[in-house]
Amino acid sequence: MLGLYLHIPFCASICNYCNFNRGLFNAEQKERYVVALEREIRLSGDGSPADTIFFGGGTPSLLSPAEIGRLINACRDSFDLSPDAEITLETNPETSSTAVMEGFRAAGINRVSFGVQSFREDELRRLGRLHSADRAREAVGEARRGGIANISLDLMMWLPQQTRADWQSNVEALIDVGPEHASLYLLELYPNAPLKEDMARAGWALAPDDDAAEMYLWSLERLDAAGYAQYEISNVSRPGKTSRHNLKYWQDGEWLGLGCGAHSTRRGVRWRNVSSTEDYISQLSAPRRTLALGLVAERREMAPREQLEDALFTGIRLTEGLDMQAIHARYGVDVWSQYGDALQPFVAAGLVRVEGARLCLSRDGMLVANEIMQVFV
Ligand code: SF4
Repeated sequence: MLGLYLHIPFCASICNYCNFNRGLFNAEQKERYVVALEREIRLSGDGSPADTIFFGGGTPSLLSPAEIGRLINACRDSFDLSPDAEITLETNPETSSTAVMEGFRAAGINRVSFGVQSFREDELRRLGRLHSADRAREAVGEARRGGIANISLDLMMWLPQQTRADWQSNVEALIDVGPEHASLYLLELYPNAPLKEDMARAGWALAPDDDAAEMYLWSLERLDAAGYAQYEISNVSRPGKTSRHNLKYWQDGEWLGLGCGAHSTRRGVRWRNVSSTEDYISQLSAPRRTLALGLVAERREMAPREQLEDALFTGIRLTEGLDMQAIHARYGVDVWSQYGDALQPFVAAGLVRVEGARLCLSRDGMLVANEIMQVFV
């Protein structure tokens, strides 16, 4: 089934490490954007079965419950949306309250993903985040009281000045809060990130690489002990609470990305909408016959080789491993015959395991996943 990704490009302030497609919130522009996005949903809708909607951003929780409800209804009218569809809203703790959460729940949201990033005040300030650690804890309580039973938290690891003990205190705080799902990301500093300048000015440093590896491995063991199961390199969940939407990206699925800069992959074609919010709005104001010309910034048929590589790169990220039988059935490629020789040293080093028809990374292998994936190129 299809996954529907809806991009909301507005933020109350811009974090110093962020490289996403987003801009500062502007109420008037937001209203025009919601109209444009609803139009794109209705024009793209072909009645295909879909079982996830993911509001990502940006900060989608800057939309009102009524606006979110309008967009969900447009998806229901335009696609064959499962009655039990997973409908996720990325939310920042500072925009949350019990009443707002009740509104989102009534609009159809049944999963909330909070961008917490850290439970330490010093780290939140260094990242330029607007919320405090207490606000993050309160926001989770508000979501639960508002009727959201499926909650995910994002934490960022290997932050400037973060010690192993600091990171461990973040993981303990997450376990105390008790979300159903958590994503643990490594901070990635893109070349011109303002955070890089802040670090240079303030003399903040990153912990050594070995510490980052230990932080990662320690947190997964601690989360295992707390009843979470890792299912992807950066993601853990309680039983039955994996992210159905994100699994589409890792299980060779199909999705439609709607909104400015959103990416889609469907029927062997990959495309991306124009990135600029204003260009997007103006394209969606155009007559239908000219729309396809200006809305899509890039579109290409994926070569069979590219489709195969994508399936290999993403599938091996899952702890259940890459399903070699499924790859054979879909692409006619025997993974072990083709790549076994190159994979053998990683198997011997305990970084890769073959379990029946599945090829799995060990946790140590996950630390060097990018190197192992080069085998498939
Ligand atoms: S809230 Fe999220 S999307 Fe917005 S600037 Fe910060 S990191 Fe980027």
